[in-house]
Amino acid sequence: MDPVRLALTRRLVDAFGLDRDVEVVSAKPAGESTLRLVHREDYIEAVKAASVDPGAADSAYGLGTVDDPAFAGMHEVSALIAGQSVGAAEAVWGGEALHAVNFAGGLHHAMPGGASGFCIYNDASLAIARLLELGAERVAYVDVDVHHGDGVQAAFWEDPRVLTISLHEHPRTLFPQTGWPEETGAAGAAEGSAVNVALPAGTGDAGWLRAFHAVVPELIADFRPQVLVTQHGADTHFEDPLAHLAVSLDAQRAVQVACHELAHEYAGGKWVALGGGGYAVVEVVPRSWTHLVAIAAGRDVEPGAVIPEGWRQEVFARTRQLAPARMTDGRWPVEYVGWEAGYDPADRLDQAVLAARRAVFPLRGLLA
Ligand SMILES: [Zn+2]
Repeated sequence: MDPVRLALTRRLVDAFGLDRDVEVVSAKPAGESTLRLVHREDYIEAVKAASVDPGAADSAYGLGTVDDPAFAGMHEVSALIAGQSVGAAEAVWGGEALHAVNFAGGLHHAMPGGASGFCIYNDASLAIARLLELGAERVAYVDVDVHHGDGVQAAFWEDPRVLTISLHEHPRTLFPQTGWPEETGAAGAAEGSAVNVALPAGTGDAGWLRAFHAVVPELIADFRPQVLVTQHGADTHFEDPLAHLAVSLDAQRAVQVACHELAHEYAGGKWVALGGGGYAVVEVVPRSWTHLVAIAAGRDVEPGAVIPEGWRQEVFARTRQLAPARMTDGRWPVEYVGWEAGYDPADRLDQAVLAARRAVFPLRGLLA
């Protein structure tokens, strides 16, 4: 979670002149009452205490651990990131912006009562909770980070107003070891409001896109969200050091385009897009989220676009790593076979997709 990944992303956005096509807004940090929409008061107090005295961090709340080390000012920084996603949601709901992007956000592992997986406050959950507070009755959350969007699923487990869909590497091989297809929401009205596609390790572009298109559009078309919130963790990439999918930037960009289209088709264009994981901080993250900003700005950067030399020099100066030369991995156009064609019962990817569909589609009145 080296913050250099955010700085390099912002610089690459600027290098393509996209900063002139978007309005860059500093929203307020999330205040107490906002944080409490999702997080327990005792947890917020524990974060504040660790923020003042990192040595006294309470590991019962996941603080001061290897994944979530305590540091001075951690409450303020985390509340600031959360505030940007909440501000994005408010702007989209209120109509000041049709789309909003917070690539510092997408901290989807934070739980109502504890830190987890590099995440302190769950900005995605807070943005959704704020939308509900403002009167939204249907919000869809699509999470394509390589890790399960467990914190967001947990926050709205009992809430039928929020449909959470997560595509991720199978819990058998990856943190946080949840996100099984059988996790479908609390019994009763919320049953069928959580969707989990657990992908086999090694899944590449064709499989990842096939899974996305076999599950997400049908659910969104049926649910008709008033706002679409998406999380674009870039850690599905084949270069990512923390996970085992084999997705290219070309496919990540294709899914970003698809999310943008789904927002227009089914959510009146209202789209809040967030970052997430991504640990190849030079090679992958800046390119992935620059595409995201470009798509939201309506000024798509072509897959084969050459990266401005100034940015590459800055990358080397800051990190001593060689920056990529082009905006994707040269796999454009990425091809996949649609779900209806070519279902193969012996294929592990198809088995994963079918498990997700069978678990939840009938609960929503859809054919699995
Ligand atoms: Zn992740």
